[in-house]
Amino acid sequence: MKVPFLDLTRQYQQIKAELDAAVLKVLASGQFILGETVKQFEEAAAHYCGAQHAVGVASGTDALVLALRALGIGVGDEVITSPFTFFATAECVSQVGATPVFVDIEPDTFNLDPAAIESALTSRTKAVIPVHLFGHCADMERIHAIAEKHGLFVIEDAAQAWGATCNGKRAGGLGYAGCFSFFPTKNLACCGDGGLLTTNDDEIAQQVRLLRTHGQAQRYEHVMLGYNSRLDALQAAVLAVKLKYVDRWNERRRQHAQRYNELFAGTPVVPPAEKPYAKHVYHQYTIRVPHRDAVERSLKEAGIGCMVYYRVPLHLQPVYAHLGYPAGSLPVAEQACREVISLPIFPELTEEEVEYVAETVRTAVKG
Ligand SMILES: *Cc1c(COP(=O)(O)O)cnc(C)c1O
Repeated sequence: MKVPFLDLTRQYQQIKAELDAAVLKVLASGQFILGETVKQFEEAAAHYCGAQHAVGVASGTDALVLALRALGIGVGDEVITSPFTFFATAECVSQVGATPVFVDIEPDTFNLDPAAIESALTSRTKAVIPVHLFGHCADMERIHAIAEKHGLFVIEDAAQAWGATCNGKRAGGLGYAGCFSFFPTKNLACCGDGGLLTTNDDEIAQQVRLLRTHGQAQRYEHVMLGYNSRLDALQAAVLAVKLKYVDRWNERRRQHAQRYNELFAGTPVVPPAEKPYAKHVYHQYTIRVPHRDAVERSLKEAGIGCMVYYRVPLHLQPVYAHLGYPAGSLPVAEQACREVISLPIFPELTEEEVEYVAETVRTAVKG
């Protein structure tokens, strides 16, 4: 049996008629940039996340950049974030001229460790970017308490966490700004690049709407330097269809995770944690195993798609060498990089496939 890491064609086959009709409707409308289709999706997305505003942008990376710009973060400022995440989380901080400050992670959730934030604070610290990694929310209650005490903004990198909750509230409604990506592999995804910023702050929403269209307040009146970063109508139409199904799909991911957990009980495999405050949406199902590279080889030989997210922590990336973090400085993140492997978890997997993957892992960890 071959099991792909992710097969998007299975999802398309399920909703083909509806998706095709939605796309054709946009083609016939002749309205491709912003417009009514985007506006309707933004309203539905804001409602879903429990946020006052949602602003469609060109990517998750841009949502992060625009959030930082809207909060006035730039040269001379520091932003605390996780070293164990996709590169864009820190890249956006550098792109606005600020400096990312990396602190270590929790070993069980792989998320930013709230206990590590305070020791990294300086007079230049302006914000914290917790990442809801793999679909499990960061410990937002503790992060907010620290942020409030020190006057910091909290920007959620919710790119992997559409539908995830923290104390019953959905990701995207938990900070000053929530940043989502609709890259095709994410839990809610479009057919290209796309992103969204959610916020309860009228001022931030207004700023991001200006920033995404060249700082243009009215036609040909530019009040600031902005970007060309808009969600297009075709992507919004696709997203509006998929939004109706995403809870069902997330539930399937949770069922697969539950099954994997059962099948890994009593083995050296460490399954992903789900904290009492969180509802995990398993963007990834990421385990820790001894001899990870050998397990990875066994899976590939058995025809099973798997990925290592992430092999190198951000503080040890060549581009951040100048920040001066030596190897060993963030040991929990570095150990995770040596031990993690992500298994297939997409909703359309069959039970037989899940069992075959688990059986192959169980055999591989026995050596
Ligand atoms: C995917 C992702 C991003 C970036 O999203 P793009 O839409 O690809 O720009 C940012 N942060 C995290 C954690 C991600 O997984």
